[in-house]
Amino acid sequence: MKFEELPLETSLQRAIKAVGYETPTPIQEKAIPPLLEGHDLLGIAQTGTGKTAAFALPILQQLLVSGKVREPKCVRALVLLPTRELAIQVEDCFQKYGQYTSISTACVFGGVSDVPQKKALLRGVDVLVATPGRLLDLINQKVVSLRKLEFFVLDEADRMLDMGFIHDIRKVVAMLPPVRQNLFFSATMPADITKLAAQILRPHPIRIEVTPASTPIERITQTLYRIEKKRKGALLRALLMQNPDMTKVLVFSRTKHGANHIVEALEKAGITCAAIHGNKSQTRRQEALGNFKCEIIRVLVATDIAARGIDVDDVSHVFNFDLPEVPETYVHRIGRTARAGKGGSAVAFCCDEELDELKAIERLIRTRIPEGDPAILANLPADAPRGPQGRPQSRPPSRPQGRAQGRSQGRPQGSPQGRAQGRNGAPERRERSVSSSSEQPQQQQNSEQRPATPKTASGERPGSRARKRFWDKFRPKSEG
Ligand code: AMP
Repeated sequence: MKFEELPLETSLQRAIKAVGYETPTPIQEKAIPPLLEGHDLLGIAQTGTGKTAAFALPILQQLLVSGKVREPKCVRALVLLPTRELAIQVEDCFQKYGQYTSISTACVFGGVSDVPQKKALLRGVDVLVATPGRLLDLINQKVVSLRKLEFFVLDEADRMLDMGFIHDIRKVVAMLPPVRQNLFFSATMPADITKLAAQILRPHPIRIEVTPASTPIERITQTLYRIEKKRKGALLRALLMQNPDMTKVLVFSRTKHGANHIVEALEKAGITCAAIHGNKSQTRRQEALGNFKCEIIRVLVATDIAARGIDVDDVSHVFNFDLPEVPETYVHRIGRTARAGKGGSAVAFCCDEELDELKAIERLIRTRIPEGDPAILANLPADAPRGPQGRPQSRPPSRPQGRAQGRSQGRPQGSPQGRAQGRNGAPERRERSVSSSSEQPQQQQNSEQRPATPKTASGERPGSRARKRFWDKFRPKSEG
């Protein structure tokens, strides 16, 4: 099928040509015709399949031909997404595809001033792309209303639930007018997502599954290195130095703290890199992403939440520096390479403490990940364990008390029962994607807090050095 065969306005066909698309991807081929007929859609698709155009093009088409006009403070199409990066990216797609039309778009997300967002919404917009918390804020402030909504898209539904947005989603859905077209996308379909989909979609939606849930993209070459934790950094550096074909490399770290350490070590080795995670400002994150996209830097180190918005063409290699606790996350991570029909490579590092995670991943993908050349491991120097200010740490650990122990509830670390589990077995503690309180799902709000200790007159907390060393050493796996 060619795009010209689809009943899309000339202005949209022109934009498709301008962005360089020739043939629709499978999800576009399957989704666009029924969406143009007004059906609801349940799409099971990973990022990288072309799903944004699959929903954006039919929405734009229908907005163009419906004869309706936008009203002040009203929205005609709403796309709800879990992170600001993703929201920016999807709005960008709507703008690209609608560049020869008069369709207006706006994007709202937390962590930044709401003043420009309010201004954009005042006259009404055709397409609003939003994260849930900020959208609810603006609705409560009566800056925007959903009463005239014609199209509702919930994208990355599984991530939304993982991040604790379920209550916000329910609040938004309760405000939608009863007559509307609904599009629901998720990379995986566990039971709670199926239930949510049934609450949002009209009966008998079109169901399109592009890549079977939880199956990695076949074009990705996967490699595994079994390596001690303290030597992972050295292995990453050695691989990057020995393989000039690793041109655009995305490295996943489980924690923000770990991401910073990886960047520090790579920079010392003269490898251009940057980190993106929830502790970095929006500007710094956009800057790092921009430099990575333009290949000013070779390596981008990311945590899972920050990486949700990464849409970078031609990522050559994805490294799982730490294996994720939730096996589906591995699939999401490696799906960042091999996009738009291209090939790619995924390299995973697994230390002894991560054998359970490896087992879960291999069970999920129903494949044993082939091991890489062991020769490279022979001459690796060990990375010294690090204390505060990057000093090597020599003191042997004592058993951590309080929070760390409370988290594992006395069960052995590394066993699936040993970690605090949330719904669906997902870890309760996750990195937050945004800094504004409006975007922080409630279940996560207190989890970053540490026991408060009074400060001394000098402003320092007594024993804060020692405590920092302690936390650096014993920080629970999912903490950044
Ligand atoms: P998505 O899954 O929507 O995030 O899209 C992944 C990537 O595929 C983006 O870089 C899109 O620009 C690109 N893309 C989407 N549709 C097509 C198409 N029909 N032909 C070529 N590239 C596409």
